[in-house]
Amino acid sequence: MLPQEIIRRKRDGHALADAEIGEFVAGVVAGTIGEGQIAAFAMAVFLRGMTLDERVALTRAMTRSGTVLDWRPLGLPGPVLDKHSTGGVGDKVSLVLAPIVAACGGFVPMISGRGLGHSGGTLDKLDAVPGYRSQPDLETFRAVVREAGCAIIGATADLAPADRTIYAVRDVTATVESIDLITASILSKKLAAGLQGLAMDVKFGNGAFMSRFEDAEALARSIATVARGAGLPTTALLTDMNRVLGRTAGNALEVAEAVEVLTGRSAEPRLVEVTLDLAAEMLLLGGLAPDLAAARSRAGAALADGSAAERFARMVAALGGPADLLEAHGRILPAAPVRREVRADEAGFVAGVDTRALGIAVIGLGGGRARVQDPIDPAVGLTDVAGPGDRVGPAEAPLAVVHAASEAGAEAAAEAVRAAFTLADAAPPPQPVVALRLA
Ligand code: URA
Repeated sequence: MLPQEIIRRKRDGHALADAEIGEFVAGVVAGTIGEGQIAAFAMAVFLRGMTLDERVALTRAMTRSGTVLDWRPLGLPGPVLDKHSTGGVGDKVSLVLAPIVAACGGFVPMISGRGLGHSGGTLDKLDAVPGYRSQPDLETFRAVVREAGCAIIGATADLAPADRTIYAVRDVTATVESIDLITASILSKKLAAGLQGLAMDVKFGNGAFMSRFEDAEALARSIATVARGAGLPTTALLTDMNRVLGRTAGNALEVAEAVEVLTGRSAEPRLVEVTLDLAAEMLLLGGLAPDLAAARSRAGAALADGSAAERFARMVAALGGPADLLEAHGRILPAAPVRREVRADEAGFVAGVDTRALGIAVIGLGGGRARVQDPIDPAVGLTDVAGPGDRVGPAEAPLAVVHAASEAGAEAAAEAVRAAFTLADAAPPPQPVVALRLA
């Protein structure tokens, strides 16, 4: 069928057949369908939506558009599991979680992304580690997963190439925020990684892409349902992104915080809670624990007894990073020359945080990209970031500490930080970090 006929049928609100969707995706990969047609198709889907069957068909077609990893020939003695987050500010969960699951007997081939919009990307964080090869060949990737139990790398060109092409068009045609298209985009990459179980961290709140809880819940339901329809057991947690996760935002600073959590030197409770809850879901999906409570305590033990830290160290060293990152991250990771504490003018409790604004402040410091080709300064960002309920003031805790490349950068970020916080005389009621579990 001609591409324009497929687009016309979607434009007019018809459900497309599997074969039509398959043909369209094949044309995208072969280059016989142009960007204008991809854009029209994406907009038709955006406006008309897709049925569950269409979403599954689109996900499958995009998965099969490139290599689908098969871990069976390696004879791994445990399940192949992964986690995906829809993205937030200060989200360094993957760095702690992948080694926890590895220490508990799972294998985690985690293919992560770069920062998108105001949110940071795991890949950019790991690129802050000197020597770490975040884009190894597939053979090295497989070997590190086998030896360390986890490997966190960047997307390779041959996994779900249809998503790469379609996503680039969506990004510039106002068609990113479609639950149908996001579902297929995320899951095609995860299915291509050959997983046996997936935990989804779907974020809501003012630092998330889906700020409204109902939209995040609809996305979580869509992903879990389509994943199961495509044969991938999936559990989704809806987690709060109305504040920075942990106390840091910025690439090297987040790696340092993750190392501190892994080595027990710091344990920001919300970060630890999200990490252990997601790890527990993965252990349960992989049959590594009989129930959620046992899975949670197994994950907690791997964090507490240092076995997760040991897996992290093995992964970093196997991918070319320093062997002593755990002990010497303060010396190894790049540090910004200017540090400035940002304090509130008056004492009070943090009532609200504009989390997205803090993410944008980090980009302003050079810690994220305004354009795809922009370089990143791995050293800059924020530490000691306050959250709702924290007591702050001129003689009390700061709102945050800015790490900048210059005095001017520090000044601009300090202004943005001050504007991002709302204070009150009393602390607001605490909000749980994990708001809903969809299993
Ligand atoms: N992340 C993805 O990988 N795809 C989307 O469409 C949106 C977020």
